Amino acid sequence: MANIDNFNFRGKRVLIRVDFNVPLNEKHDITDTTRIDAAIPTIQKILVDGGSVILMSHLGRPKEGPEERYSLKHLVGYISKVAGASVKFADDCAGEPADRLAKSLQPGEILLLENLRFHKEETKGDPGFARKLASLGDVYVNDAFGTAHRAHASTATIAQYFPGNKLFGYVMENELRNIDRVLHQTQRPFTAILGGAKVSGKIEIINNLLSKVDHLLIGGGMMFTFINALGGHVGKSLVEDELFEVALNVMEGARDMGVQLHLPVDAVIADRFDNEAVRKICDVNEIPDNWMGLDIGPDTIRHFKEVIGRSKTILWNGPMGVFEFENFMEGTREIAMAVAEATQQGTFSLIGGGDSVAAVNRFGLAQRVSYVSTGGGAMLEYIEGKELPGVEAIRK
Ligand code: AMP
Repeated sequence: MANIDNFNFRGKRVLIRVDFNVPLNEKHDITDTTRIDAAIPTIQKILVDGGSVILMSHLGRPKEGPEERYSLKHLVGYISKVAGASVKFADDCAGEPADRLAKSLQPGEILLLENLRFHKEETKGDPGFARKLASLGDVYVNDAFGTAHRAHASTATIAQYFPGNKLFGYVMENELRNIDRVLHQTQRPFTAILGGAKVSGKIEIINNLLSKVDHLLIGGGMMFTFINALGGHVGKSLVEDELFEVALNVMEGARDMGVQLHLPVDAVIADRFDNEAVRKICDVNEIPDNWMGLDIGPDTIRHFKEVIGRSKTILWNGPMGVFEFENFMEGTREIAMAVAEATQQGTFSLIGGGDSVAAVNRFGLAQRVSYVSTGGGAMLEYIEGKELPGVEAIRK
């Protein structure tokens, strides 16, 4: 299989599927550039070799065709700055402007295509659409780990048009190497820390992790479904009561498999969903009506830190509380610091999922953990042992 380090891109037009699905504010400024920054080494390798680069990505979830707020043109300035090259922009990813701009592209130049998802054929994995995209380049590089679990036109279908000329970029290579390390060279104890808003969407992950981990720490909004299912009073906290049985099954599964499942014992509660809300520390089982838990409490933090401190492998997805509110970010920050400290002692730590990544960046700890994954859903599916279409399309 071709490898980015050994491949000579000289004179080639290289079509790279990147994951530039970055958050933008109302003024269209990028509020977290991690995903773009991660793709720069791949882009630079190709440019330094003497190739040219055509970047394609999706952004957000446009419903019916083009939407201004999801236009990739908002990224041109930043990409140009970090790649140190001029960036041309094709305001449609398929068809005339893209064809013309791609053909006239010179070595050392970059062309950015408009949002792939402005065409509904992208998510359908449409072969005709994939062929149009493929016609723009001589070589296909998939560096979009964040969408590797999707069988879309630009992530999977397209690879068939590049037999012998398809490869992973550095982001993909790094992601796969680091996750493989967690899965196949696991040093024990192995602890998974799961948080975020909801249990739904993470059930399969939790169930699959049960067969791999020694400890499972649960925080974030999802903890209240577990607490409530066990009979605790959680007030107005986020609860999915249709998942009580699922939550109880998870706990039973953990017992059967010898996994220690750690639920919070206390919470920081608020009288409304607001940074300025009145705050109290409270037993997690005794949250008064009309109050809601927005963070894990100090006893929980102490206990979680102790488990983290004696782990040799850590996987973390999802914040421990509403860390976007300064008054409710303590739990997430303390856990992030504990993971960083464990890493310093030789523990291998992998952080994944949009919000956990935003959290470690916000606390300035990204350099102090072993690896920050850019692809939340893809990372978790890979950890579940599923075949990712974007990975298979290159490997097969
Ligand atoms: P997810 O995308 O499922 O990982 O969820 C991330 C979101 O969960 C973040 O925006 C957090 O603000 C939110 N979150 C974490 N803890 C809570 C909580 N206790 N109540 C409500 N939302 C929460």
